[in-house]
Amino acid sequence: MFHVEHRGEARYTADGSMARIFAITNQKGGVGKTTTAINLAASLAAAEVPTLLVDCDPQCNASSGLGFSPDEERPGLYQGLRREAAAEELLLATAMEGLALLPASRDLVGLNLELVQEPEREFRLRQLLEPVRERFGFVILDCPPALDLLNLNALVAADSLIVPMQCEYFALEGVAQLVKTVQAVQSVWNPALEIEGVLFTQFDERTNLSKQVADNLRQYFGDRVFRTAIPRAVRLAEAPSHGLPALLYDLKSRGTEAYLQLAHEVIERERTRQPSLAPDPAAAAASGAGSGNP
Ligand code: ATP
Ligand code: MG
Repeated sequence: MFHVEHRGEARYTADGSMARIFAITNQKGGVGKTTTAINLAASLAAAEVPTLLVDCDPQCNASSGLGFSPDEERPGLYQGLRREAAAEELLLATAMEGLALLPASRDLVGLNLELVQEPEREFRLRQLLEPVRERFGFVILDCPPALDLLNLNALVAADSLIVPMQCEYFALEGVAQLVKTVQAVQSVWNPALEIEGVLFTQFDERTNLSKQVADNLRQYFGDRVFRTAIPRAVRLAEAPSHGLPALLYDLKSRGTEAYLQLAHEVIERERTRQPSLAPDPAAAAASGAGSGNP
């Protein structure tokens, strides 16, 4: 289905089918959205599915976590959403083969106010991504921890949501809000929006609270909870300071393995939707896709 034309140069061709767009979202801060966005995107790329990561957060953590400082002068999502640049001009190749980045910059923070009076303000991201969508198998949107216009743009652009949750008591309180938000977006802007899955992050199966909260979330979301849970793993926290996804920082770490497993699960689900999709990510990584190229 996806054919990589120039490996390592972030240029691809595809058969004309459109990328599936996932928004990694949870209005709660610090639950592992960015860690998931970077490492899921890298693991999908390791499976040889061309993947685009879009940093939709003025904190710019996904950009800096891939080695692109938000303080450098470079056009990014801000210019794209203001229609001053096309997506094509904003894509950066990353150290991870097959993974492109559409970076954020600090000025994104002002955009919520700047767009308020503008036409089609909720559809800017969807429209921006449309021309590059057929080049990728997946587009991953890293959302801010807020219900602002940037987050709304991501929910309107997305086919589906991946919701990282830490299994602690307050996670349950966010669920009702999440469902309300999804319903509101469906009814006004994006009727096709789905919840792809809830992902347990920083999961510690040894604690009773983790287990209890996980059980409650499984009761509520059923098989939309990913089978893969991401453990608390220090390598996942260290990797961004080196500007690398965990896959290139420590291929054999538990955190890396967990995200490769998650990518495998995501691709499996896609295969049931589109039977011709990509090879197995764990196998691709084992055969050296994780060794990276500059
Ligand atoms: P924000 O809402 O501010 O955007 P976030 O939801 O994107 O936050 P992250 O930035 O991914 O959350 O993670 C918060 C902190 O927890 C970071 O320091 C990150 O390195 C660390 N972290 C995330 N997941 C794990 C994990 N599985 N194991 C260990 N540390 C983790
Ligand atoms: Mg984040």
